Amino acid sequence: MTVANILKVKGRDVFTTRPHHTLMDALNVLAEKRIGAVVASDDEMRVLGIISERDIIRAIAAGGRDALDNPVSQHMTRTVQTVQLSTPVLAVMDLMTKGRFRHVPVVDGERCIAVISIVDIVKHRVEQVEFEHEALHSYIARKS
Ligand code: AMP
Repeated sequence: MTVANILKVKGRDVFTTRPHHTLMDALNVLAEKRIGAVVASDDEMRVLGIISERDIIRAIAAGGRDALDNPVSQHMTRTVQTVQLSTPVLAVMDLMTKGRFRHVPVVDGERCIAVISIVDIVKHRVEQVEFEHEALHSYIARKS
């Protein structure tokens, strides 16, 4: 199972912000789209950074509400780990666990084409386990 399998179900919406936009702008995207992280990109959809709700919380804790006027570039993570359509789901889980983050942009070349979150992975794994459980159940029923 690969990232492509997950995206078939989830779709490929990518919500982006720009490095020069403010934290308040990014916060509005997170709230409106009901997501936990947003990719900071350029016009060509290249991933320049990622900013998650945790980054914004840290910025507010350190600088108070004035931090919301800061540019995204000041608080985003610049060394973004990305995956491809062909990346196995288990490798994405490993990446998220080792890196301690819950969002991974999916790239095709340099272009960001989707974002996978830990919620998508858990949903996919639960469905897979249920499917295997059902298959095993009917196999045993047929044999007895
Ligand atoms: P998250 O768990 O996704 O809310 O992110 C936790 C921290 O990891 C934040 O500082 C994010 O900016 C950063 N982060 C999120 N996704 C990635 C990623 N794919 N690669 C590198 N850092 C990330």
